Amino acid sequence: MTIKSMTEYETISYKTFLDIFSPLPEIGEILEESESVEEAREKLFEFCKELEWEIRMGRIKFDNEVDRWLALKAIEVFLNIISKDNERLAGFSTLEYLWKAYKGDEEALKEIREGFIEEFRHLFLAMSGKADYSLGFLGKRLLEEGVKFIDFSKIKGREAGIARSNFLDKVYEIMREYISRYPSGLDKRIILKRKKNREILEEFFGITDEEWFNYKWQFKNVLRGLKGVKILRELREVTNFKISDEDLEIIEKAVKNGIPFGLTPYYLHLFDFENPYVEDLAVRRQVIPPEWYVEKMIEHKEDRNIAFDFMGEHDTSPIDLVTRRYVTIAIIKPYESCPQICVYCQRNWMVQDFDAKAFPGWEKVEKALDWFAEHDSMIEILITGGDPFSLSDKAIEKMLNRIAEMNHVVGVRFGTRTIVTAPMRITDELAELLGSFEKSLMISTHVESCYEITPEVAEAVKKLRTNNIYIYNQHVFHRYVSRRFENVALRIALKKVGIIPYYTFYPKGKMEHKDYLVPIARLAQEVKEEARLLPGSFRTDEPIFNVPRMGKNHLRAWQDRELIAIKPNGSRVYLMHPWEKGIYPTKLYTYEDVPIKEYLDSLKEIGENIEEYKTIWYYY
Ligand SMILES: *Cc1c(COP(=O)(O)O)cnc(C)c1O
Repeated sequence: MTIKSMTEYETISYKTFLDIFSPLPEIGEILEESESVEEAREKLFEFCKELEWEIRMGRIKFDNEVDRWLALKAIEVFLNIISKDNERLAGFSTLEYLWKAYKGDEEALKEIREGFIEEFRHLFLAMSGKADYSLGFLGKRLLEEGVKFIDFSKIKGREAGIARSNFLDKVYEIMREYISRYPSGLDKRIILKRKKNREILEEFFGITDEEWFNYKWQFKNVLRGLKGVKILRELREVTNFKISDEDLEIIEKAVKNGIPFGLTPYYLHLFDFENPYVEDLAVRRQVIPPEWYVEKMIEHKEDRNIAFDFMGEHDTSPIDLVTRRYVTIAIIKPYESCPQICVYCQRNWMVQDFDAKAFPGWEKVEKALDWFAEHDSMIEILITGGDPFSLSDKAIEKMLNRIAEMNHVVGVRFGTRTIVTAPMRITDELAELLGSFEKSLMISTHVESCYEITPEVAEAVKKLRTNNIYIYNQHVFHRYVSRRFENVALRIALKKVGIIPYYTFYPKGKMEHKDYLVPIARLAQEVKEEARLLPGSFRTDEPIFNVPRMGKNHLRAWQDRELIAIKPNGSRVYLMHPWEKGIYPTKLYTYEDVPIKEYLDSLKEIGENIEEYKTIWYYY
């Protein structure tokens, strides 16, 4: 499951490079005849303006109005990329690479990767109106299935209504085929598999159902440290549970180097014991760290809390345990670990092992609560961590009682993943305690795939909802949950158990998480080509980019970001607009994305047909 490092790709041939200009040979000619980058810049600007005007005057014919719109967008992107001012912001010149490479400069050609070539191949196709984007991937599938597109200007009334309805049923057939690739934990087959796994584990641990369904037993028996590795080894020896030597060694290396690893027995039973990394790909990747991650974390063992504090939390904490980035809400972190550790955790620089030391002590917690009491701007308090449901009911009650006295606080939100990692934590007592809180109380949880949604999750959610507590989901759209319609399958499963999709996060570009990254373009594509096929009440999540220090911002479109450069390795460079835009002056944030080509290669490795993703290049 390792991703090829970029240096392993071969140097691009000059001919391959020249080929990309075939939709717009004029661009190649300008690069050829220009004596300098500056000359090329001026001439390309003139050319683009003329091309734009020809389009706007209707002198260029397009197969479809959408392809015409895309051509205008692509011209804008190209102008952005060749703009001198954007070069200043990006810190380098994309145009210089294009110009040098066109002149056959070997150094430039050596540096340029396939990802760069592909970006420009598609950009030039789009600018010339030949992208065929309007058909999308679904349109192509429909044509393959022999479905005829109906011209609704030719038929009317009931006839049109029936034709459209029949056509939409065909669309659903394709959608259903994709969704069915992702088994849900509510499927009978999976429920039976898990029942068997539970029995195997109960026998292995020498316990009864009663202990299994008791969260205290689950918490006490979290697989962690060297003991956890030993248990996984033993389990492999005496049961049908499969795990590779490689995985065991990586986990062992992680725990020996103080990198937190934690896995609840409950979550372990979600694994497919006999077929690793097929149906349970996302579940295993949730907790088993890839080698690269472990290496990077070891490299930065000493300065981890600086190197990996990607969100700049050190600079947004007015007092210990509190993080404030917004006007009316701040975070309090009363427990700095979780029963289960997510490999891609953005707080990986601070999470500790799951034990008593992760509780900072009442003195600190009370001081942090005092801070909330003193700030009447705080209308909501987000209690997270770590996982606050690691704390006892008593501790939770104590915090809530204190917050109940703060008149300005309207609501409390808990950020917890126990609903997924140890759903038995949601006892009747806890649900009633939370339900008895007189202010608004909600929970945001973190379900990554429909495979994690089980009858146990459904029961935990039901207990909370009968106590008037709403549960929202924060989904991290990482590489192993980002396939076609995978997020759609998740949204449907969430809806079945009563969890409301809230955020779909772009997995931030933290280098130790390289194997989990997904380009922004894939999120944008998912929203448009997949989520859009669901009813509005199912697609309530917003795509979000977390701007370091500043806070979360939407990833909707050009009102939130601008593509300003393409690195020779194919990474897009964006200017991200923070949420404060239009509220007070603030700096934009320059961000380098993961190359689309690298992402597509990794999808191919997990068996995807990347032809089905090819419109991704047209999401800027
Ligand atoms: C995410 C986050 C919140 C909550 O933001 P919402 O948009 O209300 O979900 C609050 N404070 C901090 C520091 C956060 O990172």
